[in-house]
Amino acid sequence: MIQISGLYQSATSSRVDEVVLSLKEGVILIRSGDAISEQFNYSSCKINSTLPGVPTSITLPNGAVFTPHTTGFKWPAKKQRWSELLNQLESKWHLVLASVAALILCVFLFIQSGVPLLSKYIALWLPSSVSEVMGKQTLLALDKLHVFEVSSLEQRKQEEVRARWDRLLAQSDLSITGYSLRFRSWSNGPNALALADGTVIVTDSLVKLMAEDLRQLDAILLHEIGHIENRHVLQAAIRSTIITTLYTLILGDLDGIAESILGSGVSLIDLAFSRDMEREADEYAYQSLKNLGRPMYDFSDALKTLKEVYEVDGESDHWQYLSSHPDIDQRIQAQSED
Ligand SMILES: [Zn+2]
Repeated sequence: MIQISGLYQSATSSRVDEVVLSLKEGVILIRSGDAISEQFNYSSCKINSTLPGVPTSITLPNGAVFTPHTTGFKWPAKKQRWSELLNQLESKWHLVLASVAALILCVFLFIQSGVPLLSKYIALWLPSSVSEVMGKQTLLALDKLHVFEVSSLEQRKQEEVRARWDRLLAQSDLSITGYSLRFRSWSNGPNALALADGTVIVTDSLVKLMAEDLRQLDAILLHEIGHIENRHVLQAAIRSTIITTLYTLILGDLDGIAESILGSGVSLIDLAFSRDMEREADEYAYQSLKNLGRPMYDFSDALKTLKEVYEVDGESDHWQYLSSHPDIDQRIQAQSED
């Protein structure tokens, strides 16, 4: 038990009394003379800030202030018992529930709206050297991990597609040095992939699929250029890093943050574009076709061709192009309504 004398200053008047304070098992008793005048829970009291050479006062729940006579007196640390804490939480359960719901809503809204905006802003702000490094690393990783193999497309076909690609860039006023086209063989079927540094990879099977009508392939290439022009790869990488970091913070695994940031480079291959990004790339393709004086249905025809393969194939996993390019019916329809 602690017992100490001091001054009791009332909260409601200027009266100051000489009292003795005793503290036992979390309960404070204030005695004035022989009579017990007040009793408080120690955990509900507020220990005031300590100033050198001045006794540390304590504010009681009724607003009164007790100041001990002894300058060096140290108040014991307040221990809030679990039962007390649980009692307090129980009595305010609706407040706790509302706070948890509000927190979940805030996190959800931030991921839904804040993160895409933030990622877009950061992606536009980052220097192009970041995209350069990211694109080169991704292509290296894709080749090293044998995700793609060397193209087995005949040279003549490659040259024909490349000539069309060069013409597309020139006609669209895009820098030929800022973009590069790569042919790769991929066991999972027709696909096209944009990398951050301006590289567009087309799989042999996509070229073969559209060999009879290369205008469709042009439209797909314009869609991929749309991803690059809008810096979608960088945005997706930033978004993925922010969300992983956020989840790691919420779940309390601080060691995981560094891992997730470092790991984001490797997981670039698996990055999925959001539907908004796909729509933006679609719009880019349609708008470019229009600017080039070419029919806009080239793009919707290309989507239809891909869709047919998908339906024949029957396994959605095998048709990566559509699984990473969702809402195909909606997209074809959107164009038809134009
Ligand atoms: Zn796309």
